[in-house]
Amino acid sequence: MADPTRAIRDEVRLIAPYNAGLTLDEVRQRYKVDVIAKLGSNENPLGPSGAIRGLLDGIHDLARLYPDPEGRELCAALARDFGVGDGQIILGNGSEDLIAVLCRSVVRPGDTVTTLYPSFPLHEDYTTLMGGKVERVEVKPDLTIDLDTLVSCVRAEPRMVMFSNPMNPVGSWLAPHEFAKVIEALDDETLLVVDEAYAEYAKGEDYPSAVEMLRDTGKNWVVLRTFSKAYGLAGLRIGYGIVSDQSLCGFFNRTRTPFNTNVIAQLSALAALADTDHLRQSIDFALRERIRVAAALTELGYRMAPSKGNFLFFDATENASRLSEEFLKRGVIVKPWKQAGFDTFVRVSIGSAEENNHFLQALRDIKSSR
Ligand SMILES: *Cc1c(COP(=O)(O)O)cnc(C)c1O
Repeated sequence: MADPTRAIRDEVRLIAPYNAGLTLDEVRQRYKVDVIAKLGSNENPLGPSGAIRGLLDGIHDLARLYPDPEGRELCAALARDFGVGDGQIILGNGSEDLIAVLCRSVVRPGDTVTTLYPSFPLHEDYTTLMGGKVERVEVKPDLTIDLDTLVSCVRAEPRMVMFSNPMNPVGSWLAPHEFAKVIEALDDETLLVVDEAYAEYAKGEDYPSAVEMLRDTGKNWVVLRTFSKAYGLAGLRIGYGIVSDQSLCGFFNRTRTPFNTNVIAQLSALAALADTDHLRQSIDFALRERIRVAAALTELGYRMAPSKGNFLFFDATENASRLSEEFLKRGVIVKPWKQAGFDTFVRVSIGSAEENNHFLQALRDIKSSR
């Protein structure tokens, strides 16, 4: 019999299925646990702004009509916040959608795309899918970003430089003076994509406002943001990009699907954006708990990366996938890292106080059972 998958392109065969982790239902059924700490996907334990409650009541009327394909009201609000033109904002069905859009728009077969390693897998996968070559800049032994190597890779004029700041899964980040060196090394032919999925948590003196630093440089850049993390809207799927130039943004808009963000997501994002109190609370809570969980991990003897995200990346000093099975038996979902060289590392999200305690108790329990 002929191979039923023979229509599939070689590039598709090169990428692994996305490791999205288990859902609450899957864990309940498979591990027979009732109380679960879901700490594998960096979601906000406080949930979204209460302002979205009323919106969902309107779904019956809204569902009939196509959404605004550009999400103009949301784009205008975001453009105001960032001090750019409305035409410089693009919406995505999650920022992951935009990672695909960017790769589709610029990566030609054989092109080099530079990223940090360990990496957010989608930064690599969509590059591979387009026939591009991934160039990884690995973190230093202390798990901070290797700026010198990054800068020399940027100088070599890759097609695109795409990395998250703060870095997922590691949590470490480029400070403003370091980010300035990356900008300085950037050639006009290279597109710089800074994925700022965790920027809301990182904001502060030692974290650059990428848009502000890039705005007047005349270079080509995109800053990606999401409503999935600090805004607590992961289930609705909405993210956005701020683009250096309106005509460049126009081409990115051609390579996304026309109605990629739905009406509930657009309205919820607008409501979430307006509720700055809730955002502040979510951030303050995560930062407080991160300090507490980090201290407990240190006390238990684990080494971890510095983090400006709502997660910690620690060396479990044993196979992380096997360890995560032990966690699951105890009702805790974490993210065991699987990339080469980092398969003893676990990324754990900062959840509610109860979830964080559940995680720490499970870890102590696992340690003492050995
Ligand atoms: C979570 C995450 C995303 C994806 O966010 P969505 O908007 O939910 O698609 C993108 N980039 C990084 C680095 C992330 O951690």
